[in-house]
Parts: sequence; structure tokens; C-alpha cells
Amino acid sequence: MSWYVYSRILIDRGKCGRNLKRTITSHNNASKGNWSILAVPRFHSDINSYFDIKTFFILTVWFVLQCILYILPVGGELVDGLQIKDSRIRLKYRLNAFFVLTINIIGFFIALLSGIQVTSVSDKLLQMTTSGVLLIFVFSILLYLRANISAKTGNCFNDWFNGVELNPRWGLFDLKYVCFRSGIIGWILMNFVNIAKAFDNGNRPSVTLLIVEGFQLMYVADYFWFEDGILVSRDIVHEYLGYNLLVQFLMIPFCFAVQTRYLMMTKYALPWYCLLAVIILNLIGYWIYRGSNSEKNNFRKNPNDPQFADYEVIPTSTGKNLLVSGWWGICRHPNYLGDLIISLTYALPTGFTCFLPYLNPLFLFVMLIGRERTDGDECSKRYGEAWQTYCHRVKYRIIPYVY
Ligand code: NDP
Repeated sequence: MSWYVYSRILIDRGKCGRNLKRTITSHNNASKGNWSILAVPRFHSDINSYFDIKTFFILTVWFVLQCILYILPVGGELVDGLQIKDSRIRLKYRLNAFFVLTINIIGFFIALLSGIQVTSVSDKLLQMTTSGVLLIFVFSILLYLRANISAKTGNCFNDWFNGVELNPRWGLFDLKYVCFRSGIIGWILMNFVNIAKAFDNGNRPSVTLLIVEGFQLMYVADYFWFEDGILVSRDIVHEYLGYNLLVQFLMIPFCFAVQTRYLMMTKYALPWYCLLAVIILNLIGYWIYRGSNSEKNNFRKNPNDPQFADYEVIPTSTGKNLLVSGWWGICRHPNYLGDLIISLTYALPTGFTCFLPYLNPLFLFVMLIGRERTDGDECSKRYGEAWQTYCHRVKYRIIPYVY
């Protein structure tokens, strides 16, 4: 997906970059011309159009700042993560993502008010993305070299691509966790840049743009507020850190901010009644997403909580129980359903003339379907017959009566 978006930025840059003023004054031109799915990337002979050292430096400094903020003993407590696979160790994590997000947003506004050209990030999106791609390459090679002695499969491409170490660390500093958080924070900052850019040339951002930014900010703030939930997520617990995962984490700012960029450039505005319907849909998605995640997390933390007194559960041989009541009795992954609805509401406000803003709901859909299957296989191995009973009781995987 990130490579596709990269090629789209080339198109965007080729047609809009220097002519942005002209582009944003012509809604029809921008939405039909520059964002057409059939547009072919325009390649420049000038290397500076793809990469400049200053942009690379800015991105690197920003990333180093995220690393420093993570290890500083402020903004959140130090907690134990899950037990590491095949080991008795529990790694420690500092839960200060919400604090770091806040610092980044405050920093953004300080920079904006001090007259720093934050909107140049939008003009230099292609160079920024190239810098991100380069950083990912550098990190992935360093990670491979660091772990090569105990390479996983012996196939160097496989080990470089899929990673060798689960949690590459230097003391408290956990590279996987920092990359994950930084990608998400970068996404929100990129949205703020897009809003600041919408103010350029005496314009104002549309309500549609502000609402989409609000949706995404709310999702991320929620994600970080309940940060302990991230520590038990599949990415942190099961996935090795290699090129593949680094791309998934560090390309987030360049792929996920596509809707706000589209709305900023095309100035597309949804009629208020459609916007209202999208807001309601977003809140429904959020209700399902937060309700089901909290229900499961609370149940795992304290199954004897009076909240679960009337819940029906299936006992398993591991001592853990499976919920069959509440959200987890409706389908096997109600949290994925909520996430998908939320993600769709990021794209719906962009209308139906352009495919690109729909790319990340589509990506999420494909990813969560695969993830649900993998998780189901693992639960089947872990819980055996109890899992089969659960699947028999709860027939639908993600979408009740459909899938
Ligand atoms: P989940 O939070 O869905 O956890 C799956 C685990 O829950 C299972 O392995 C099992 O673990 C437990 N479980 C399953 N069924 C039951 C049940 N009936 N009762 C009790 N426990 C059960 O995993 P993820 O890490 O994939 O997702 C976390 C969140 O992150 C989700 O909301 C997801 O949507 C979101 N996400 C968002 C992405 C994005 O890009 N926006 C990408 C990926 C995830 P055990 O029994 O061992 O506790």
C-alpha cells in the first residue's frame, strides 16, 4: 500500500506541487485531474524533487525526539508487558504515549505561532516520504546486522524482511514500540499540517476537513489513553521487527493522512446532512470498538469483576475463560468491526469521485480479515475444544449475519 501511495504522491507532486495555488482554487480540476486513479506518475529529472538532505534531517531529528520522549521518566508509569514468547521475562514499557502526543501537538502550535513554515512539510511530502523510506531501509539493515548471529531462518532476505528479533531493545528503549507510536503521532501531525495548509492563501479549512481530523484525533487519543491495551496487541507481542513491520509502522503518516490531504487540496465539502450521518456512523463504530475492547481487556484483567456476574463464559483448560455474552457473543471480533466502521468514516466525507481515500479502509479490511484468521488458528491451538465450542456458539467472525 505504501508504495502505491508513494506513486500517488508523485502524481500529486507532479501536477500540484508547484501549481498548488492554481490547483486549490479549482475544485473540479483538482479532484478530477490530480486524484484520478488512472493518472500516471510524472517523474522528474531533478533529484531534489525526490530527496533533500534538509527534509531528511528534519525527519530524523523529529524521530530522535520521539525516542528521547519515550525514555524520559515523565508522562506515564513504567509497567510490565506480557511474558515474552519462550522466556520468563516480562519487558518494561513506559506508558506515556498520550503525554508524548500532547507534547507533539503543543510543539506543532508553538512552531506555527513562531512563524516556522510547518506547511512546507505538505509541499515537501514526496521528499518527506523518501526520507521515511530511507530511514526504514537503514533501520531494517541495522536490525538485521545486530541480530544476524542468531538469524531466525538462515535466509538473509527472509530474516531482513520479516525480522529476527521480537523486541530489539537497548535497556528501556524499545525500538518496535517507539516506531509504532511515532508512526501514529506522525499521522496526527501530518493532519495538522494539512489543516494549516488549508489556511494558506487566505482560505479556511472546510468543516468536513475539521471533522475528519477530529475523528482521527479522537481515535488516536483513545488508543493512547488506553495504552496498556497496545501492550497486549498482536503487533507488540507476536510480530518480529524487520523491514515489513517497520514499513507498516513508519509509513502511517504518509498513508493515513491521505483523506485530510485530499480535503485540503480539493476543498471538497460534504453537505451537512451527509456529514451528520457520517458522524453518527463514526460514533456507532467508536461505541462498538471501545465497548468491545474494554470489555475484553477488563475481563482479562479481572474476570471476577461484578460487571461480569451475569455473563456466560466457556471455561478452557488454560484457566482462562472465553466470553460468550456481551460484545464477544455477537461476533468473534467485534473490535475489528468497530475499527472498520471508524475507518470507513474517514473516507466517506471525501465523496465518491476518488478511490485513494478509500485505500486505507480497504487495506484495514484485508489486514483484519487475515488477522482474524490467524488469531482464530492460534486460539484454536491454545484452547482446543473450548474454542471449537465458542465458534459453534458465535458463528460470525467480524460482521454479524454477513461474515
Ligand atoms: P484482539 O484485541 O482482538 O485480541 C484477540 C485475543 O482476544 C485472542 O487472541 C484471545 O486472546 C482474546 N479473545 C478472543 N476471543 C475472546 C473471547 N470470546 N473472550 C475473551 N477473550 C477472547 O487483538 P488485536 O491485537 O488484533 O487487536 C487489538 C485492537 O487493535 C483491535 O481493536 C483492532 O481493531 C486494533 N487494530 C487496529 C489497527 C489499525 O491499523 N487501525 C491494526 C491492528 C489492530 P487471549 O485469550 O489469549 O487473551
